[in-house]
Amino acid sequence: MANLRKALYPGTFDPPTLGHLDIIRRGAAMFEELIVAVGTNPGKKPLLAVDKRVDLLRQAAAGIDNVRIERYDGMTVEYAARCGATVLLRGLRSVTDFDYESRLALTNRALSGIETAFILADAQYAFISASLVREAAQLGSNISSMVPACVAEAVKKKLG
Ligand code: ADP
Repeated sequence: MANLRKALYPGTFDPPTLGHLDIIRRGAAMFEELIVAVGTNPGKKPLLAVDKRVDLLRQAAAGIDNVRIERYDGMTVEYAARCGATVLLRGLRSVTDFDYESRLALTNRALSGIETAFILADAQYAFISASLVREAAQLGSNISSMVPACVAEAVKKKLG
């Protein structure tokens, strides 16, 4: 029998965008339980602290009842095993994403045997990237068409 009931959607989510939220909504409709795992990248200084990103994702995904948002450190495949997740979920926007994501998925499968499922970005969100949202916000632009309202407010507050 298929064993893909619990999925883990790992990412940096710095900050969470409408594209991420779309993947969360559609992933939650595909799996019995979806854990959104917010990673810490020790090599990079984030715009928003990891606990803030968790808090914002919890607010933005509040209406979806089979979704849990957690933070994690270290290897994604190890966290997935600890959670009992048997599949990783990732979003794909373009061939550039495919190139990186396919190597990541093959590496994760070589490391632990875990499968990765991909959801193609919705056309209306496919252009949105957290890094460009960060850049735009840092230059003083209004990012509210690309992120949930709570995120736009938190980023504005953070950047003063
Ligand atoms: P990471 O640093 O792990 O790549 P991100 O937070 O940038 O984390 O992205 C997490 C996942 O969400 C990745 O699979 C990425 O391709 C996907 N993603 C990012 N933006 C979008 C979007 N606009 N639409 C669909 N998927 C997206």
